[in-house]
Amino acid sequence: MAELRLDPIQRRWVVTGKRPSLPAALDSGGECPFCPGHERFTPASIYEKKGADGRWEIRVFPDRSPLFRIEGGLDRAGEGMFDRMNALGAHEILVATRRHGVTLAQLTIEEVARIIEVYRDRILDLKRDHRFRYVCLFKVQGRSGPTSQEHGYSQILATPVVPGAVEAEFRWSQFHFHRKERCIFCDILQQERESSLRVVDQTSDFTSLCPYAARFPYELWILPNEHSSSFEQDLAAAGRPASLAGILKTSLQRIERISQHLRMVIHTEPNLEAKRPREDWWTTIREDYHWHIEMVPELESEPYYLVPEGFYFNPISAEEAAVVLRALEPEPAVVPSVE
Ligand SMILES: [Zn+2]
Ligand SMILES: [Zn+2]
Ligand SMILES: [Zn+2]
Repeated sequence: MAELRLDPIQRRWVVTGKRPSLPAALDSGGECPFCPGHERFTPASIYEKKGADGRWEIRVFPDRSPLFRIEGGLDRAGEGMFDRMNALGAHEILVATRRHGVTLAQLTIEEVARIIEVYRDRILDLKRDHRFRYVCLFKVQGRSGPTSQEHGYSQILATPVVPGAVEAEFRWSQFHFHRKERCIFCDILQQERESSLRVVDQTSDFTSLCPYAARFPYELWILPNEHSSSFEQDLAAAGRPASLAGILKTSLQRIERISQHLRMVIHTEPNLEAKRPREDWWTTIREDYHWHIEMVPELESEPYYLVPEGFYFNPISAEEAAVVLRALEPEPAVVPSVE
């Protein structure tokens, strides 16, 4: 069974060991397990959003070979000087549509809004479990996906630890806040909206921009204009999912003009209801952190852009990328007819 181990030098959590196979998972024999009528090839649904005809439109179920498992205890333990715990958590698959071969960018704004509502509801639901300190929501479309399935889906991980990438963001946002009493993302938004150099789209609610020190060519972020640390709470307000769906669809359409293969991740606050390791655990996060979505097209040559040791080389500056992305008008979506 997989377990979580802490690298004490880099303070990095690693899942190591065999991923279990859920007994409910039948082999689909090459057929797409996410298509309607093939539900027997996946574990039973945790959640289904039903259409007017009573059939599911969006389905969520546990991964057939989960990285994290919901049953059992954490069993934190020391092993000499090292720390380990069970890979307790959740690993869910969210099938975004009944239609095979349709990407998120090709769905209608109404469909994207419904998916955003399910993203929000799954994060809220998983955060009710106080064993989980963070909920990750991400999407890998294409090449480096865990399978070659072309049926649109996203993944959700609930974890008993805060992943390193967001923890670094929390730390440096907090550092900025302690010095200036301001949110670093609000400061960035203000400066970027004034210069417009790296801004790609702006609405009354959201801004998409190429981050100043973009790690990857055409890296694009979406941020809410009004300060909010929590994706799931911000998106609970009326009209917000539809508003985000508009700019998310446009952004994904621009990215898809560069590559059909992409990665997308939502960065939101940690679970503030979780059992805290210390009293002072992220006490100012509501003021100093600002949720956002990061997306990156995967290019053929991308592996060459990443120098080991966490140092990035990106030949296309954020300003150049923004010029290109702005010029790539979203194409009218060609949506295959319903099955
Ligand atoms: Zn399918
Ligand atoms: Zn802010
Ligand atoms: Zn981020």
